[in-house]
Amino acid sequence: MPELPEVEIFKRRLDATCLGRTITGVSIRDRRIIGKSSPARLVAKLKGALLRATRRHGKYLLVALDKGGWLVMHFGMNGSLQHFGRDDEDPPYDRLRLDFGDDHHLAYVNPRLLGRVELVADADAFVAKEKLGPDVLDAGLGLAEFAQAVAARKRDIKSVLMDQAVVAGIGNIYSDEILFQARLDPHSRADRLDRGDLKRLFNKTKSVLRTAIRRGSGSEQMLERLPRGFIIRERKKGGRCPRCGGAVAAIKFSGRTSYYCPRCQPAPR
Ligand SMILES: [Zn+2]
Repeated sequence: MPELPEVEIFKRRLDATCLGRTITGVSIRDRRIIGKSSPARLVAKLKGALLRATRRHGKYLLVALDKGGWLVMHFGMNGSLQHFGRDDEDPPYDRLRLDFGDDHHLAYVNPRLLGRVELVADADAFVAKEKLGPDVLDAGLGLAEFAQAVAARKRDIKSVLMDQAVVAGIGNIYSDEILFQARLDPHSRADRLDRGDLKRLFNKTKSVLRTAIRRGSGSEQMLERLPRGFIIRERKKGGRCPRCGGAVAAIKFSGRTSYYCPRCQPAPR
């Protein structure tokens, strides 16, 4: 599932290719992706609009239109944003295609249709309505606010990191990496972490996500670009801990498999 690093990469791709440009054509190739919105309204709002600014909040990408309003994209399980030129074939599973005058296109691709695209009037109101916590890479999110939000939850730290209402952007894959680097057992209760744990968790959260973005790694693709010390590369059967060489353990959390090193991430006291 695309997590913060991938969505940030999509944002940068859009910024580099389509920002400041005007949409000349819109094709909704599968209307299920726009939920209850009317296709005619979506096309009317998008056609002729210039992409004025972009913003990422957690796993959402929001695009401001000069005519007013925002186009919001969520990528679900395996969605992506692809840019292609006149001579390229449309990518498979493109559900919405935006055309730009000088013969290039932006495609919202989503094989499993588990994401969505919608128009909203205001970005801040959307974030509030979705009950999203602060974006975890927001420069304004400091240790004190992070620690307070995390420690207020009386449940395991793995689930708390993935709870978009606490902080937005982290999913199953990157929470494994953050906990590995912070040397915390995923079962540790969030409200029982001490100040040192919380500080380490905060620092590793920021550094892991920034490293992934810098290297152009997602949550399932381009993992080989991540540093060798990352456990994400060993999230598989027979995986070895990059720190101690021990076997990586797989456990289930809310139906999803999580990987960690029981030696380097000892059980809470
Ligand atoms: Zn280890």
